[in-house]
Amino acid sequence: MSVPKASLQPTLRYQDLDRAYVAGQWIAGTTTFKVNNPATGELLAEVADLSPEQIDQSIDAAAEALPAWSAKTAHERSAILKKWHALLLANAESLAQTMTAEQGKPLAEARGEVGYAASFLEWFAEEAKRAYGEVIPTAFAGKRYSTIRQPCGVAVAITPWNFPIAMLTRKVGAALAAGCTMVAKPAAETPLCALAIAKLAHEAGVPPGVFNVVTTTRAAEAGEVMCRSPKVRVLSFTGSTAVGKRLYRQCADTMKKLALELGGNAPLLIFDDADIDRAVEGAMISKFRNAGQTCICANRIYVQSGIYAEFTARFTQKVAALKVGNGAEDGVVIGPLISAKAVQKVDRLVRDALAKGAKVLVGGAAHTRGGHFYQPTVLEGIGAGMDILGEEIFGPVAPLIRFETEAEVLAKANDVSVGLAAYVFTRDLSRTIRLTEGLQSGIVAVNDSVPAVAVAPFGGVKESGLGREGGRQGLDEFLDTKYVCIGLA
Ligand code: ADP
Repeated sequence: MSVPKASLQPTLRYQDLDRAYVAGQWIAGTTTFKVNNPATGELLAEVADLSPEQIDQSIDAAAEALPAWSAKTAHERSAILKKWHALLLANAESLAQTMTAEQGKPLAEARGEVGYAASFLEWFAEEAKRAYGEVIPTAFAGKRYSTIRQPCGVAVAITPWNFPIAMLTRKVGAALAAGCTMVAKPAAETPLCALAIAKLAHEAGVPPGVFNVVTTTRAAEAGEVMCRSPKVRVLSFTGSTAVGKRLYRQCADTMKKLALELGGNAPLLIFDDADIDRAVEGAMISKFRNAGQTCICANRIYVQSGIYAEFTARFTQKVAALKVGNGAEDGVVIGPLISAKAVQKVDRLVRDALAKGAKVLVGGAAHTRGGHFYQPTVLEGIGAGMDILGEEIFGPVAPLIRFETEAEVLAKANDVSVGLAAYVFTRDLSRTIRLTEGLQSGIVAVNDSVPAVAVAPFGGVKESGLGREGGRQGLDEFLDTKYVCIGLA
């Protein structure tokens, strides 16, 4: 990773990204809110804080833009999305710097996210052309049956701060490709990335009102307006399970279509027969990417007894060597957590585990550099009844749990209310098949720790949510199937 050159001036200056984007206009809010760099505390921008009335007006804008956008051919929509994709890539360095500044992740990861985010626009630009209906063999000689697939209407997106661009493009790419228009509400921690994306959408020729970005600190009120509006037909949300459940309830009265990407509690299973180099590397990436702040981060690392000592020694050594700091600095691989509250939550889970008998192998407390930094941590001696097994850690803390048999670890892995991702390290083919079928999760990665990609469906089972994003399935969330029955004369 190279240090950003001092001469490199972002073309999307975050200081200039201070207004919301509605109906193709940059609008002020009733007040403003501050966006700070979580690594340094530096004030980055004061951004428009929209009122619930303004959120409602943005839905009107999306509704007004709908007829013309949905009437475009898939090829026309695709061309605009491709232009937007190219602009993301052309501005990748500026976007990555903005992301590191407001979100905290190391620059190398931010660059990776920009590429990943852009890939959704390209993927859905292509999938737009393949939103096929079907002709159904008839059941009666005088009738003909077929289906067509049509855009659902106005969609809203509510997105989190941990992947501030990718979580947005995988929703808006699919929505716009399908012919829907969208109002997106980014997290108040990371509005600048979303506004930068809106600038590029404007430049790419996305028509006014087709994509709107509403910035606000009044998340609950904004959510209510969006859920209650009969004009909104789809809600796509990525965030916590608690908020997802609340939105699910709020959408009942208007019967919206829902895509909910909620929390996970990913088990990572390492068997005696695993390639240990791969397992150590995989556990490192899965656990520590984005300082542990992803919904598919390994939350519970189960290691079989025959390989436990060697794995633990090698893993702990690597964790101890992780460089913590400002993500904009060269060589840093662990940035700050998003907020002081996040640090307190991670520390609460560690303190609870220690009080109940866990042991620290490395780390175990907030970082001595202060601020929002937490020490990369490995804990062992994790047992039933510890909060860390039941909650999403969302920080750089790895709990290790020794196990004996496949049946035992499968039961433990599934003994949670959520099921987003699961990881297995083994070289045994039959075991691979048993576990990919037996694990209760929407995603299973075998001998791999980075499964998320635009071409494959991402989503969970149980309380991890509804629907899939990315892949062929991602488009389905924004399309209704209409059945047409024609009686012959
Ligand atoms: P996290 O704990 O990761 O911040 P949240 O679920 O709180 O996850 O936040 C994800 C997104 O949901 C953010 O955009 C946030 O502003 C928004 N949000 C939070 N609470 C509500 C709510 N009651 N209604 C609608 N959106 C909400």
